Amino acid sequence: MESVPCAGCSIFFVPRNKCQIFCSKPDCQRVRKTIWQKQKLATDPEYKEGQRLAQNKWLQNNPDYWKNYRHRNPEKADRNRSLQKIRNMKPRGDQVISKVSKIIGIAKMDARRPREYSLSGQYWLVPTVAKMDAVKIFITSVPVNSL
Ligand SMILES: [Zn+2]
Repeated sequence: MESVPCAGCSIFFVPRNKCQIFCSKPDCQRVRKTIWQKQKLATDPEYKEGQRLAQNKWLQNNPDYWKNYRHRNPEKADRNRSLQKIRNMKPRGDQVISKVSKIIGIAKMDARRPREYSLSGQYWLVPTVAKMDAVKIFITSVPVNSL
C-alpha cells in the first residue's frame, strides 16, 4: 500500500488499510483515541454515563488524587485558582474586564505613591471570546530614563 501522511505528525507511513490515517506512534495513537472518545462522548449517552460512573468509582478508590495532583503541580493549581476566579465572574458578561481591573487595582494600586505604581509580575492572559488556552505572561516595568 502507498504511504500517506499521518494526521497526527504529518510523517509519511504505510497504512494497514484505507481507513488508517494515524501512524502507530504512541503520541499519534493518543491523538486518535482522544478524537474518537470526544466524538463517542458527544454521540453515545450510554458510553458517556459509563465513563462518568467509572470516573466516580476510580475517584472513590483514589480519594487523594486531586490533593496530590495540586501538591505535585503547584503552578497548575495556582493557574486553575486564577482561572476559576475569572470563571466565577462570567455570569455578568461584559463586566468581567472592569471587575478584573478593579481586583488588580485593589492588589496593586498605591494611592499615596502613584509614580511607583507597578504592574510587574506574573499574569494569566485569558481569552474571553475564542476558546483558547490561557497564556502566562510576565510584565516587567522599564524605567523611562532607560528607553
Ligand atoms: Zn504520526
